[in-house]
Amino acid sequence: MRDLNRVNDADSIADITTTPLWQDHVAAPDLPERPLPAEVDALIVGAGYTGLSAARETAAAGLRTLVLDAGAMGAGCSGRNGGQVAYSLKPSLKTLSARHGEKRAFAICEEARAAIQYLRSLATREGVDCDWRESGCFYGAYTARHFTGMAREAERQIPGLEQRITVVPRSQQRQEIATDYYHGGCVYHDDAAVDPMKLLLALLRRAQASGATVRDRCAVIAIRRSRGGFEVLTGAGTLKARKVLLATNGYPGKVSPWHRRRVIPIGSYQIATEPLGTERVLSLIPHGRNIVDSRHIVVYFRPSADGERIVFGGRAALAEKDPIACVARLRAMMTEIFPQLQPVRITHAWVGCVAYTFDTMPHLGERDGLFHCMGYCGQGVPLAPYFGSKIGQQMAGLAQGRTALDDLPFPSRPYYFGRPWFLAPSVWAYRTMDALGW
Ligand SMILES: Cc1cc2nc3c(=O)[nH]c(=O)nc-3n(C[C@H](O)[C@H](O)[C@H](O)COP(=O)(O)OP(=O)(O)OC[C@H]3O[C@@H](n4cnc5c(N)ncnc54)[C@H](O)[C@@H]3O)c2cc1C
Repeated sequence: MRDLNRVNDADSIADITTTPLWQDHVAAPDLPERPLPAEVDALIVGAGYTGLSAARETAAAGLRTLVLDAGAMGAGCSGRNGGQVAYSLKPSLKTLSARHGEKRAFAICEEARAAIQYLRSLATREGVDCDWRESGCFYGAYTARHFTGMAREAERQIPGLEQRITVVPRSQQRQEIATDYYHGGCVYHDDAAVDPMKLLLALLRRAQASGATVRDRCAVIAIRRSRGGFEVLTGAGTLKARKVLLATNGYPGKVSPWHRRRVIPIGSYQIATEPLGTERVLSLIPHGRNIVDSRHIVVYFRPSADGERIVFGGRAALAEKDPIACVARLRAMMTEIFPQLQPVRITHAWVGCVAYTFDTMPHLGERDGLFHCMGYCGQGVPLAPYFGSKIGQQMAGLAQGRTALDDLPFPSRPYYFGRPWFLAPSVWAYRTMDALGW
């Protein structure tokens, strides 16, 4: 049996950077360290896709808007994700119908489609520069049974929620990917790819252009209710805010224990190969598509935005680890699919925290005047800009901000206080199921 944790001879660990590849060529701007205002109408905690999209709306509606982030721009998921854009609600229409009734369930699924359309429109019509590519996605079947199931689903799509899907049997798979690892799969033609950091910086510029002030490296430490709103303690002093939005997703911290009990932060790890040249990358993934597969512990990969490298990600550890410690396992997962990449060097390895929820749904709404928008379950590239803009409109009191997901019950579990103690055994169980082909 192969030891997945053994360091490959090609890798010199000392030469691998933990800065995400996307931040190599697009530097985060130096945001001015201006003194904080004494009072704002809208304070947004977190300057990722959610917070910046919300800020664009509140500022455009005339609210004095301040966005604060504890880290540098791109420190959260939005500067370090895989850049894959896909229809992205985890629960099926059937599951949602059982929970919320057929009508609302259908409307919820339509919101997920609207999220992709929103991002497409930002990129193609509104000048949001994010290397938008309508490259589609190949969804690889990990077992023959998975293939049968996915082909059946593709043939019986739900009227009104159809996607353009082509079923690819194993005999034709090499037209999509240079491997026999999968048992066939499906191409989702409507999926797309972005450069995550470029998207983040474009949303930053958009928020600033509408009048929002954004400050990084300034954590919100505590939020207390006071007359007419909130008193907010930050790393740079105290201010008053009429309304506050928590846009902290997989980095909930301690500012709101109620929200912390409802979000499960899970590390997702990525590596990038050294530049291989576009021809070699296209020899592996001929149409330059995103790739994901049908395992429980999903892997996801794609060509880099410049088409020169393979960027490969997944859950590489039982418990959270340093991203460098995950290089060996991620590389082994990659070379199981592409043995051709055995001699190739890894140059980047990084991690970020996605936010799962107990019902695998995103949540947005208001609780006693405190707004939230979070829990994209690893699918926030399309969902966060869309729902971020919606919650911003809600904060501004605009009717167009209403969504079919508003104020869904946001579940927690007994004995869960924000530290996912059950993660390692769950990952182990899912890995075992994958190994057994269940
Ligand atoms: C490795 C990886 C790969 C991924 N790949 C994909 C993909 O291919 N497709 C996809 O759809 N999704 C993907 N995702 C998920 C996606 O990136 C996220 O869902 C999305 O970026 C969430 O955006 P956000 O603005 O809500 O959160 P974030 O971008 O995480 O921003 C939250 C911010 O809140 C800040 N914050 C927290 N607490 C405080 C505080 N007290 N004070 C001030 N600031 C605070 C944090 O510093 C952070 O910057 C991936 C995520 C990771 C980590």
